[in-house]
Amino acid sequence: MKAVRLEGVGSIALREVGKPAAGPDDLLVRIEACGVCGTDRHLFHGEFPCTPPVTLGHEFSGIVEAIGTGVSGFSVGDRVTGDPNIACGSCPHCHAGRINLCHNLIAIGIRRDGGFAEYVVLPQKQAFSLPKDLKPTHGAFCEPLGCCLHGLDLAQIRPGSSVAVLGGGVIGLLTVQLARLAGATTIILSTRQASRRALAEELGATATVDPSACDIIDTVVGASGLMPGGVNVVFECAGVRETVEQSMRLAKAGGTVVVVGVMPQGMKAEFEPFDLLFRELRVLGSFLNPFTHRRAADLIASGAIEIDKLISRHVTLEEAAAVIANPPAPGEVKVLVVPR
Ligand SMILES: [Zn+2]
Ligand SMILES: [Zn+2]
Repeated sequence: MKAVRLEGVGSIALREVGKPAAGPDDLLVRIEACGVCGTDRHLFHGEFPCTPPVTLGHEFSGIVEAIGTGVSGFSVGDRVTGDPNIACGSCPHCHAGRINLCHNLIAIGIRRDGGFAEYVVLPQKQAFSLPKDLKPTHGAFCEPLGCCLHGLDLAQIRPGSSVAVLGGGVIGLLTVQLARLAGATTIILSTRQASRRALAEELGATATVDPSACDIIDTVVGASGLMPGGVNVVFECAGVRETVEQSMRLAKAGGTVVVVGVMPQGMKAEFEPFDLLFRELRVLGSFLNPFTHRRAADLIASGAIEIDKLISRHVTLEEAAAVIANPPAPGEVKVLVVPR
């Protein structure tokens, strides 16, 4: 079968590899769609730990083609989404219920072969069913939505809350939708790209800001700003220095900052510890999707999340390596690799 292989830092190519077989507790899944993620680009550039050679792709869904002898609850022909993050279940973090911090975490598409291929092997405990009538491309959004759900859970948004979302990529635009569903009544999204601002307003943002055209701090929290004094919750969804630094200044006293965006390892940012202390900010990292994949799949199956507008284009496996090796095109939100 064809698979997009990361062979080392800066080296990615489509290769012909053997079709994998399902072990006793595995499903063999024929990929319907697999999303290209910023993390794939970080992996390509050596900015996120991984172990090449490996087939990339951790945001996938597809149809069960074969099942191992020990599998129950799934049948050939089922549509499934895979939670790529496999926790060991036996380290101190797993025992404490914090599976995303597992010492021995192995992610499909990062440390073992993933979904930029015709088939993927999915352990049954990582598989979640999707409706047969769901659009085949929508299941690929369960993983990013699950990550956003974890951020929402940490933020503890209550009805009437004010929220700022920094970054207009797929994580930012899913977070806007979840904040709306959680009852936030002010949702401000900041991104430089006009098309993404327009999309955010369609998806539930009550206001958008172009941080390259104004002083975002003044525009949002200034005396005559959108939310004078700051917002209850800031979601950092861009993973760049500027937005990490802005996030703490946009939160109101006693507010919460949730860092969801994946930044390159080693990136530095500045903040004033006095601000953290004096304004008693709650600054939280939100990593991966612990126990949120089922809810993400149910939300997507319910139609409560707008997915089609987030899909910029479909590409083939043949085109995928070039997409990952290059920065996203302006305005692009999510590119899906669709094998056939
Ligand atoms: Zn991802
Ligand atoms: Zn563990």
